[in-house]
Amino acid sequence: MFFRDIIGQNEIKTRLIRSVKDGRVAHAQLFYGNTGVGCLPMALAYAQYICCENPLDNDSCGECVSCKKYAKLSHPDLHFVFPIITKKSSGNDGSVCDDFLPQFRDKVLEEPYLSLQDWQEALQEEKKPIIYTREGEEIIRKLNLKAFESAYKIMIIWCAEQMHEACANKVLKVLEEPQGQTLFILISDNIENIIATIRSRVQQVFFPPIDDEYLRDELRKRGLYDENAEFYIKNARGSINRLYHEIADNDTRTYYFRLFMDLMRGCWNMNETTFIEQWIPLLDQLTSLGRTSQIAFLQNSQRELRENFIYNLNVSNLVYMNREELDFAQKFARFVNERNIEQLMNEFALAESHIDQNTNSKYVFFDLMLIINDLLKK
Ligand SMILES: [Zn+2]
Repeated sequence: MFFRDIIGQNEIKTRLIRSVKDGRVAHAQLFYGNTGVGCLPMALAYAQYICCENPLDNDSCGECVSCKKYAKLSHPDLHFVFPIITKKSSGNDGSVCDDFLPQFRDKVLEEPYLSLQDWQEALQEEKKPIIYTREGEEIIRKLNLKAFESAYKIMIIWCAEQMHEACANKVLKVLEEPQGQTLFILISDNIENIIATIRSRVQQVFFPPIDDEYLRDELRKRGLYDENAEFYIKNARGSINRLYHEIADNDTRTYYFRLFMDLMRGCWNMNETTFIEQWIPLLDQLTSLGRTSQIAFLQNSQRELRENFIYNLNVSNLVYMNREELDFAQKFARFVNERNIEQLMNEFALAESHIDQNTNSKYVFFDLMLIINDLLKK
C-alpha cells in the first residue's frame, strides 16, 4: 500500500511521513475513526514506508525487496492480529490468526477499506469474529522473534476492540514494557470498547470522515459518477466502505422503492375497479416476497416516508433521496404531513413486527393498505 493510494486524509499522511523522517515514530499507536475512513490502508502504507529501503520524499519506493513483499502483505516482519471464529463453540479449537492469514491477506489486498462485517461475511460466519485469548500468547511469541529483514517489526492489530479481555490484558503488559524495535499499530472503529489502560498507553491518531471531494474523485476515477453519485456520497458520510455498499445495495433499494411507489399509488384509490386491478396484484406481489424481504421492504418504506416528510421542510441538505425518489416526492410528499406521519410510521413498524412474528402476510399487508388509504387523506 502506498500513501498515494489513500483517499484523502492528507494531514495524517503528512504527519506520519514527518515522524518517520524525524526518527520519532511512537512505538504504540491507535488509529481510530469510523469504518471505512482509511485506518487500515494508512497503517499499511505507514508500515511499508518505515520498512522501505529507499524511501522517497512522500512515499515508499515500490522497487526494493521490502516494498515487493509489502505489495503481497507477506513481509516476514509484518504481523497481523485480527478477529477470527473458531469452529468449536467453546472457542478453543486452537485456531490463531495465522491460520486465517492467507484469506485475510487476500481480502485486504482486494478491499483495503474493509469493515469487520465484510470480513465476517468473507468468513461466512453468523457470529461476530473476535480476537481470542490464545492470540495473546501468539503476540508474545512473535515479539520474541528477532526482526528478519527490517529494523522494525510491525504488529497491526485490526479491530482491536474485538480483543477478548484476557488477550487485551496481555497486550497491555506488552505495551507497558518498551519492546525495542517493535511498532504496534492498533486499529479500531469503536475505541470505547478498548480498555482505558490500553488507550492511555498508545498515541491516538483520529481519522475524520473523508472529505466529499475525495469521494467524488474516487467515483469519477472508477467511472461511477452518475446521476445518483451525490446521493451515494451524502449517504456515505465520509466512508469509502459505506460509499461502495451504497452503490452495491442500489438495485435492491430501487426495487423496494418502486414497490413502495406502487403501494402508495394503489392505496390512494379504493373502489371496485382499483381493488381488482391494483390491490390484488400488489397483495400477490407483497406476499410472494420472502419474510426477510418483506421486513426489508417495510423498513425501506419507513425510510421513504420519513424522507418525504422531511422533503416538505424544504431543507435540501436534510434530504437523502436519489433522483427517482426525488421525482416521486415532488408529487407525493405533500400527502405525508404532521397529521399522519407518526401514525403511518407506527403502522409500518407494526406490520414489520407482525411479519417478524410469522403472522399471515396477506392479512398484514391488506390491513396496512386499508390504513394507508385512510391516512393519506388526512
Ligand atoms: Zn521500497
